[in-house]
Amino acid sequence: MNVYLDSNATTRPDPRVVDAMGRMLAEQWHNPSSIHRQGQAARQKVELARHALAKLINTLPRTLILTSGATESISIAFRGMLMALPPEKRTIITTPVEHEAIRDLAIALEHDANRPIEIRRMPVDANGVVNPDDLPALLDDSVALVSVQWANNETGAIQPIEPIGAMCREKGVVFHTDATQWVGKMPVDVSAAPIDLLSLSAHKFHGPKGSGALYVRPRLPLKTVIHGSQERGRRGGTENTAGVVGMGVAAEVAMEWLADPGARQEVARRRDRFEQSILERVPDTRVNGPTEPGARLYNTSNLGFAGVESEALLLMLSERDLCASAGAACGSGSLEPSPILQAMGVPVAYAQGSVRFSLCRETTDAEVDEAIRVIPECVERLRSADANSPATVGA
Ligand code: PLP
Repeated sequence: MNVYLDSNATTRPDPRVVDAMGRMLAEQWHNPSSIHRQGQAARQKVELARHALAKLINTLPRTLILTSGATESISIAFRGMLMALPPEKRTIITTPVEHEAIRDLAIALEHDANRPIEIRRMPVDANGVVNPDDLPALLDDSVALVSVQWANNETGAIQPIEPIGAMCREKGVVFHTDATQWVGKMPVDVSAAPIDLLSLSAHKFHGPKGSGALYVRPRLPLKTVIHGSQERGRRGGTENTAGVVGMGVAAEVAMEWLADPGARQEVARRRDRFEQSILERVPDTRVNGPTEPGARLYNTSNLGFAGVESEALLLMLSERDLCASAGAACGSGSLEPSPILQAMGVPVAYAQGSVRFSLCRETTDAEVDEAIRVIPECVERLRSADANSPATVGA
């Protein structure tokens, strides 16, 4: 059997989403900017999808800019705000545990020869969580934007974005949150929250890859970064109509699913059973991220196996039909632990052997049982292979 404990919802297509996208490709192959009837039919589908997405986060459809995903939304938010603000606003406050879409953008902005931006990073504790009390000391008149993720992509750690957003609002500083891991997994009322900009991606709630959105609070003076007539001049480029429609259906299905808190508790129960069982069966294993109830997304389990290389473990798990993903810079040939785990101060031996397992609403008890059977065997094999390697034996 295939066990998918990988990348949150991204490996699980929802048949309703696939069906709607297929019909869009087969029957509505038209440009939504065209005046003819077929074009206008495609436009209607795009706007219905925007409506559904707006409902998911409780906002008005016109506050959403449809994009190719959170990475693009984040770039539009950061660069569009910097362009809108005077040059004295030359500081961005963020955290060291953001997704690389923000971490790498922050580094690029720091080194921008035309307008170098100062990046201030809020410290995080051993669970990878910031303390809102650290913000006031960093917030001065030079700050253009504060950006803190809602939930972490590697550990599921939840950040205190409400008090942070409220402090920003009080100071008149723009607040962006990367809500990619949150939207579709938890209810969101963006209109009631102190959030000015919010980025999201459809594939984190069983929608298609390459589709997402940026929420922009009404009257925020965001400048256009990608020019063109689409999205009311705020993001040019012909719409990815099938992707947008798939995102809209995924949003509708997520809304339905979120209406029952018991459904989330079911996923949490499976995640906890998985995690407890692995901790009991595999010695020298730790949970990376918070473990107190409510401090972490209910679907994520980031486990560090001491003395194992995460890439080797992932490959072995894949051979056993179990999909998971690394907390380390896997595939790059580097054994450098993930910057997120480093920022949390996870001991190197555990960080190098860290793997993220993530469940979704489709994960079954049978998959969890299989994972509990397979993972200890693989870790054991890798550890004993390592112990018998010539380097170790000769040491
Ligand atoms: N932010 C977070 C927290 C993510 O988990 C991801 C994707 O995994 C992104 C941003 C980037 O999303 P995308 O690759 O869809 O642009």
